[in-house]
Amino acid sequence: TLLVSTALSGLTDLWGDFMRASGSAERVFEMIDRVPAIPLEGGERPSSLEGRVSFRDVRFAYPSRLDVPVLQGLDLELAPGEVVALVGPSGGGKSTIAALLARMYDPLSGSIWVDGHDLRALDPGWLRRNLGAVAQEPLLFSCSIADNIRYGRPDATDAEVESAAKAANAHDFIQRFPEGYRTEVGERGVQLSGGQKQRVAIARAVLKDPRILVLDEATSALDAESEHLVQEALERLMQGRTTLVIAHRLSTVANAHRVLVLEGGRVVQSGSHSALMAQEGLYRRLVERQFVAA
Ligand code: ADP
Ligand code: MG
Repeated sequence: TLLVSTALSGLTDLWGDFMRASGSAERVFEMIDRVPAIPLEGGERPSSLEGRVSFRDVRFAYPSRLDVPVLQGLDLELAPGEVVALVGPSGGGKSTIAALLARMYDPLSGSIWVDGHDLRALDPGWLRRNLGAVAQEPLLFSCSIADNIRYGRPDATDAEVESAAKAANAHDFIQRFPEGYRTEVGERGVQLSGGQKQRVAIARAVLKDPRILVLDEATSALDAESEHLVQEALERLMQGRTTLVIAHRLSTVANAHRVLVLEGGRVVQSGSHSALMAQEGLYRRLVERQFVAA
């Protein structure tokens, strides 16, 4: 399995994560049909990356639903190291932005840039190796916990896997299994809780050490203990990395450098949490309804 995972690393982990995050098994199969439209290899592989991200007047609709515009002239800009929270009504296009950034699809018009490079000029494998993702319900593979973490960087040593797990607040629960890091997960192995799966996915991202992160925060409540450990691990992970976080928690938006409110495929509000709270508008309504009332 590790051989396969090496070949598909990057693609599968981002692909699985985003598709899990955005919906049904049917969509996953639609996705399998479409992935070949994007070349797997070939293109520029810059030797370094600062982590600037821009979407310029991006229009997008899914190939199966070209009549339904999803992004309609989206502009956004993330400075290197900036943590930007994306909020908005369900179906507003948040997960689509994440999928476009990983180049699961190309925009119909407009362009997406990483540093000074148009995404279409970059080697997709290189791009995905430089992007980290943690999804709402991370996809774990039917193999050991160690190999699930090693997905982030297939050549990592056991010591590196363990130190990533520590940074992700996962080491303690992993060690409590009789077989530790060799514990099999998935269909034939142990079932991990939502919070444990997320911490394994965070460990994967820590090991990968990307300049750019895309996080899709869990909507369902984790138990309080897990919630705290996940939050703490995410904060550690985001430190110094350009981060786009699809946010569902008040604590996340409050800590972000900037919040973007997405509606109808466009950014309708942008600013800090407190600046946006001081305005009449969608953001305040979302906060009152979703974060506070929930
Ligand atoms: P959000 O993450 O903000 O809830 P999404 O980006 O998941 O929104 O979805 C935006 C729109 O695109 C929705 O109308 C959704 O139904 C549609 N959509 C999402 N994924 C697919 C897909 N794979 N194929 C066709 N339509 C999709
Ligand atoms: Mg979504």
